[in-house]
Amino acid sequence: MTSQPIHVVGGGLAGSEAAWQIAEQGLPVVLHEMRPVRTTEAHKTDGLAELVCSNSFRSDDWETNAVGLLHAEMRRAGSLILAAGDQHKLPAGGALAVDRDAFSAEVTARLTSHPRVTIARGEIEGLPPADWDNVVVATGPLTSPSLSSAVRGLTGEAELAFFDAIAPVVHIESVDETIAWRQSRYDKAGPAGTGADYINCPFSKDEYEAFIDAMLAGEKTVFKEWEANTPYFNGCLPAEVMAERGRETLRFGPMKPVGLTDPRTGRRPYAVVQLRQDNALGTLWNIVGFQTKLKHAEQVRVFRMIPGLGEADFARLGGLHRNTFLNSPKLLDAELRLKAQPRLRFAGQITGVEGYVESAAIGLLAGRFAAAERLGSALPPPPATTALGALLAHITGGHLLDAEASGASSFQPMNINYGLLPPLETAPAAGSDGRKLKGKERGAEKKRVMSRRALADLDAWIETTGRADATGHILA
Ligand SMILES: Cc1cc2nc3c(=O)[nH]c(=O)nc-3n(C[C@H](O)[C@H](O)[C@H](O)COP(=O)(O)OP(=O)(O)OC[C@H]3O[C@@H](n4cnc5c(N)ncnc54)[C@H](O)[C@@H]3O)c2cc1C
Repeated sequence: MTSQPIHVVGGGLAGSEAAWQIAEQGLPVVLHEMRPVRTTEAHKTDGLAELVCSNSFRSDDWETNAVGLLHAEMRRAGSLILAAGDQHKLPAGGALAVDRDAFSAEVTARLTSHPRVTIARGEIEGLPPADWDNVVVATGPLTSPSLSSAVRGLTGEAELAFFDAIAPVVHIESVDETIAWRQSRYDKAGPAGTGADYINCPFSKDEYEAFIDAMLAGEKTVFKEWEANTPYFNGCLPAEVMAERGRETLRFGPMKPVGLTDPRTGRRPYAVVQLRQDNALGTLWNIVGFQTKLKHAEQVRVFRMIPGLGEADFARLGGLHRNTFLNSPKLLDAELRLKAQPRLRFAGQITGVEGYVESAAIGLLAGRFAAAERLGSALPPPPATTALGALLAHITGGHLLDAEASGASSFQPMNINYGLLPPLETAPAAGSDGRKLKGKERGAEKKRVMSRRALADLDAWIETTGRADATGHILA
């Protein structure tokens, strides 16, 4: 073992958490943060773990909400971000909302006063120096240009994106397959398929016209000033912009019905919306070609007009944002190391997770992996049945490649959700009181069982890696 410190680049949500985890494993760490020497378009302060927009870590309900489960797991694993969040929480119903200034000040103070943490203010321009042998890069969605272009040099042009173009994703059990049917265009099997790889939602002419009207009338979000000039239009037009170009544009684009036969009528429908499998488990399906800037509530209303999606339960809604992120399933190994240069490990939003909590969660894992590597001890990944493990599996290989686009990745950033966890072998039919469960009640009970399974499995994993007290300190 060398006495060299581990270097963490970026003192945001992920980098702060990674540095804490490394220090708590007894190792020296240098945390490099470019602010205030250089800033991003979204940050306003020089505090570590600054929340750039909302002050919410979303639901804190560990039993029936996947992000609440992730909170619970991170608390058990000694997360600095959760400990500081809990210390500075504000009233927000079932959500964990925080006083953003006090929260950031707390993270900054705890890292600054930690005996094994050194904070270095300044931008890492280009790749980290060659003699840094163990580095966590956690520079976020707005990674500075010199570093992002150096990373691009290592990964190749196509593998580091500067914009996400997210199409909504639905949970499979909410799709009405008495209306929608499985078929690939012209029944083509392709390299990894069966000929029935897509779920097709058929439109009559009247349904199509009503849907186009709703897309056109739906309220949209506007780009921030600094995002407006990013040329996202090449290749990933928002669906509503296509609709604005002409009422038939979608019917000749992502909604074209050619090569498809509705088994209920024996005919080709007027138009279709296709769903494509989004994760290896087959629990999540994305709406092909429907990246959108419609507001979230509008998306739910408009996309439930799609025949077969009347009761759709969305795992993720669509969006388009400035966002630097890697094609992680292809580029990173199971411990978040860049295959092309394994001394570099990535964490946070740049790995293709979405959100404050998810970014910090990947920081926690990257910190633990980096420390284990330095200590010469093997750290198994958390089980895929846990929220931490499921998120890690999603970015390091749980996602599917888009075979139709000749191997190009359809990987897009994702929040934690139950669809990323392996389904239960048998869904609960009755509640704890023995009463038979139906509909939403059954869904909620399923989540409870998955959450209990997750925490039991996480506890077993933690025993091998170090349990923390309520303040985030790892107990000996
Ligand atoms: C405008 C915007 C709004 C968002 N709003 C929300 C929201 O409301 N809720 C939510 O959950 N998520 C939101 N996100 C998404 C995401 O969760 C946050 O961006 C989150 O902060 C990501 O954590 P991170 O640690 O990966 O990156 P960051 O928290 O951004 O941390 C990265 C850090 O690296 C530093 N850095 C960058 N390049 C270098 C370099 N070369 N050298 C040294 N330091 C460097 C930056 O200054 C920054 O401090 C938003 C993202 C953006 C861009």
